[in-house]
Amino acid sequence: PSSAPVPTDQRAREVLKAVWGYDAFRGVQADIVRTVAEGGNALVLMPTGGGKSLCYQVPSLLRPGVGIVVSPLIALMKDQVDALRQVGVRAAFLNSTLSPEGVREVEDALLAGDLDLLYVAPERLLLPRTLDLLDRAPVALFAIDEAHCVSQWGHDFRPEYGQLHVLPERFPHLPRVALTATADDRTRADILRVLGLQGAPRFISSFDRPNIQYRVAQKEGPKSQLLDFIRSEHAGDAGIVYCLSRKSVEETAKWLQAQGVDALPYHAGLSPRERNLAQDRFLNEEGLVVVATVAFGMGIDKPNVRFVAHLDLPKSMEGYYQETGRAGRDGLPGTAWMVYGLADVVNVKRMLAQSLAPEEVKRVEAAKLDALLTYCEASTCRRQVLLGYFGERLPEPCGNCDVCLNPPRVRDATREAQMALSAAIRTGNRFGAAHLTDVLLGRDTEKVRAMGHHLLPTFGVGQGHDEKTWRGLLRQLVSLGYLAAGDHHGLSATGKARPLLKGEETLKLREETLVLKPSRRDRER
Ligand code: ADP
Ligand code: ZN
Repeated sequence: PSSAPVPTDQRAREVLKAVWGYDAFRGVQADIVRTVAEGGNALVLMPTGGGKSLCYQVPSLLRPGVGIVVSPLIALMKDQVDALRQVGVRAAFLNSTLSPEGVREVEDALLAGDLDLLYVAPERLLLPRTLDLLDRAPVALFAIDEAHCVSQWGHDFRPEYGQLHVLPERFPHLPRVALTATADDRTRADILRVLGLQGAPRFISSFDRPNIQYRVAQKEGPKSQLLDFIRSEHAGDAGIVYCLSRKSVEETAKWLQAQGVDALPYHAGLSPRERNLAQDRFLNEEGLVVVATVAFGMGIDKPNVRFVAHLDLPKSMEGYYQETGRAGRDGLPGTAWMVYGLADVVNVKRMLAQSLAPEEVKRVEAAKLDALLTYCEASTCRRQVLLGYFGERLPEPCGNCDVCLNPPRVRDATREAQMALSAAIRTGNRFGAAHLTDVLLGRDTEKVRAMGHHLLPTFGVGQGHDEKTWRGLLRQLVSLGYLAAGDHHGLSATGKARPLLKGEETLKLREETLVLKPSRRDRER
């Protein structure tokens, strides 16, 4: 006790080596560990796979007492604790899966100071009984994992997380470290407020995942596009395919199986046993494709997932980043592949408009969706758009996304956009893309006749382009907010459309959607 204290950094490196066998901290880990081990608070924003766990595990070992880890991932606690015990860390968890005797045992160990780390589900932590226990136990720090769950603006709000303000209120002298892989400005502000971290240092790692190739394509025949993609680039690889509904999960999985792809469905409608089985198989088998709703994947740590495919739009950029981030965690190449079409855009916009959520929430969600659609329609490097959304600037185009690898040609589409917008307006702003396309192409359908739309000046003005072109153009106009999707898929021109219609503004779009019909091209020559 008379010798000089060993500096924190050195002790941290010794623990890292002795317990985990690692030689060095990665990136900002060392700074975070020092800050927290010395009793400071911290906000840690680090992408999935970046190494967040060590940021609270090492300080918990360096400080006297037990590190309390709040985590919503009950299903993973046992695995995390087992892994720690294997390296000799005294770890335990408290959640609803324990028997009363099991709870008592852990509580006794906690009070006796026989634990280094204790994982607690938030609802368990908030029980008066647990909080009283923590008053009496030696506590080293609080780590709040998946901290974005405190925010209603996040994609993963948990009401119990909103109650975690008890931590700064009741234990103001204990260090708190909040960790998340996903947080826009608003979510970040909520984390700081709820957890009382306003003045705390923030440690933000780059969100770039250079080994992931980002690609977005127009949806034509989603199942066969997916099969082509898997067969030509990822045969025999492990992958995740995300769909919006349970029904499409089931259908897609069945269809892939019939085509000889080793595929498995996963959604919240399955029993817990079936879900666990699917997770276990995915983790332990090679080359399994899981077709899933977003219910699948939180906390899944399989390093060699080679692709993540989206057959439906994610809800936000955060969701997209987190879901695609499950590819290539071993650092080897992975593909983030997505197809989307007009119907998807119309659907999600309509679902949002019809949702019963408070107006303010709806506005935020609409803004998040718009950011995602802008990403989908990007004609500049996708990685730059993606990272830009998270407040990070990538100075050069990445060279590893579809836009960089195969630059789309952009061309003036003002005239076509005017045609499409006036078709919507002249038919009363209430018809869907199929009917508007019929009007533009001058198709004499029963509906066109019945509505008298064959008499409109817009009837047939779009014959210079084919059906696919008009659908693609309408999709871009909806994505970019010139057309709004209402009930029954009806499209109406928005205020944003006016300057375009008046010719005060021009619109440039990806040429892919403006392919001229051969006949017309011949005529123009
Ligand atoms: P996150 O929670 O941020 O998704 P983890 O904490 O699970 O990430 O870490 C991801 C992987 O990286 C784990 O396998 C972990 O052991 C490894 N890892 C983290 N930090 C280091 C390090 N300094 N040296 C070597 N491996 C590390
Ligand atoms: Zn790029």
